[in-house]
Amino acid sequence: MSRSFEDGSAETTHLKKDLDVAQPTFSAPDIDALCMLDNYGVSVTGQHVTAKRIVLECRVRRQDNFCHHCGGQARVRDTLVRNVTHVPIGWRPTQLHLRLRRYRCDDCCIVWQQDTTSIVAPGAKLSYPAALWALKSVVTDRVSIARVAANLGVSWHTANDAVLDTGRKLLIDDPNRLTGVRVLGVDEHVWRHTRWGNRYVTVVIDLTPVADGIGPARLLDMVPGRSKHLHHLVERADFRISWRC
Ligand SMILES: [Zn+2]
Repeated sequence: MSRSFEDGSAETTHLKKDLDVAQPTFSAPDIDALCMLDNYGVSVTGQHVTAKRIVLECRVRRQDNFCHHCGGQARVRDTLVRNVTHVPIGWRPTQLHLRLRRYRCDDCCIVWQQDTTSIVAPGAKLSYPAALWALKSVVTDRVSIARVAANLGVSWHTANDAVLDTGRKLLIDDPNRLTGVRVLGVDEHVWRHTRWGNRYVTVVIDLTPVADGIGPARLLDMVPGRSKHLHHLVERADFRISWRC
């Protein structure tokens, strides 16, 4: 099946196979969609692209210009900037430069700013897509925390906190996560190298959709320590376990 690159046919053949789209339907270019922001309530209004990093200037689409106390219309007092780390674009650490309006109600004398919780959790440094990207990199792609941190352009602790927080929220909030699971993947990661030895976390993945050919693997649990602590899962007869340690 291999043909030379001179006539371009080899590239075309591989692309079609990789994209798995025989006849794609094209729409107009959309930077919000390309940057995975179209479903998160913000729009890109500017870009600063260098060889080492990308900064996207964004605005929150929801105005929020009515007083939270009396309901009256407020006026814009000023704007402020909040920087949030986003999913790397083109191998470069990418930051969202969120320009936020600050409003003031003259009747109530209160001031507030546009809500950013559609794109970033309160107090978090990573956007929701970036936190999910980091979690997926560690859990399913087996990338180290240090490498994830370097790709995002953040500290090791920032990346580590984001992965743990996102993993806990996705897992603990779903008490039925083991329903329908037939094939488990158990994977040990060295979470951190220390002078006193390595710390491990064991990641448990639902491989049932992969085995059935209907979808990607699904994160089920992250347990501190090595996989020998997972006897309660091993003893369950209705699971087939794929060890990847
Ligand atoms: Zn008011």
